[in-house]
Amino acid sequence: MNVGLTHLLNLPGVAVESCNSFQDSVSFQLRVLAKGTCCPHCRNYTQELHQIRPIVVRDLPVYGKEVYLKLPRRQFYCRVCQRYITERLQFIDWRRKYTQRYEENIYSQINHFNIEQISRQQHLGVEQVKNIFNHIRQKRQKQHLELSKKEVLL
Ligand SMILES: [Zn+2]
Repeated sequence: MNVGLTHLLNLPGVAVESCNSFQDSVSFQLRVLAKGTCCPHCRNYTQELHQIRPIVVRDLPVYGKEVYLKLPRRQFYCRVCQRYITERLQFIDWRRKYTQRYEENIYSQINHFNIEQISRQQHLGVEQVKNIFNHIRQKRQKQHLELSKKEVLL
């Protein structure tokens, strides 16, 4: 594990194993620190690893280079529910291909640039930019809704 790079990356629950630098991009190989996960259905803690699939997610750029994180998507087995459960990482939304901070960053750029400009700058397809934008907007609306529900309860 690379302590300096892990500190620099500043994401919870993961460590940088290695780093590869290319002309226009950098990729970090990450390791998940937790040995197991809590079952979202019954809260049982399990360490029974069923399978690991490597995934790549986009993160915020550094020094003008695109950043990609290579990490394991781990599936555990819960004996109580007799179900396979996929681990959720707190810095990536469910089934997204980007870190939350990357998506938030793209979303905030819409105040200064149009979708085509962001697409060119980030080397993302126009549809990908729209998809990120919609994802964050829906998330905000949901959070706003939950917040106003709480206010009603108070
Ligand atoms: Zn369970």
